[in-house]
Amino acid sequence: MSAPTIGVFALQGDVREHVAALARLGAEAVAVRRPAELERCDGLIIPGGESTTMFKLARAFDLFEPIQRRLAAGMPAFGTCAGMIMLADRIEDGTADQVTFGGLDIAVRRNAFGRQVDSFEGDLDFAGLTAPVHAVFIRAPWVEETGPGVEVLARVGSGPAAGRIVAVRQGPVMATSFHPEVGDDSRIHRVFVDLVTEHVGTLR
Ligand code: GLN
Repeated sequence: MSAPTIGVFALQGDVREHVAALARLGAEAVAVRRPAELERCDGLIIPGGESTTMFKLARAFDLFEPIQRRLAAGMPAFGTCAGMIMLADRIEDGTADQVTFGGLDIAVRRNAFGRQVDSFEGDLDFAGLTAPVHAVFIRAPWVEETGPGVEVLARVGSGPAAGRIVAVRQGPVMATSFHPEVGDDSRIHRVFVDLVTEHVGTLR
């Protein structure tokens, strides 16, 4: 099976780290800034950054609707942190005008962890992975509510936010509250690349 082409939404956020992680795994990584670049992609990563800026830039660069259309048509996607917010169907504590691409039947709470645990790191069990992942959270959202088709992949293990949902998947769309692109553990990116490869396989 040939390597899939995976886009990274590149108008805002930590694009370079995701491109590097994809390259390490042998996927073809494309920085997506315009609709023609999106067209080439079998799947899309939406990075961490600032979701309230992302949706405005996506609109300004005519990417908002094309991304929404591809998601509605079943394109695999992976959102991290702000990217999770962009993929959520519902937001709590968003700005009044804030909109998302949607695709995941979840409600996320922005900046959910509160000031004291604003940014923190911890080890999490992640569904399907044998050893825990080291998760870095930066003004992260958590998942407040999941619809029936949504699988929970990880929860915070301990501390004040213990039990909070921080990774989910619904069909070909997955999201993490934390930043798996930080550091050199590529296992979560591998899960996504495999998911895209499988999805492409079913189309051929
Ligand atoms: N707090 C940011 C937002 O609301 C997300 C932070 C991040 O992506 N590291 O979009």
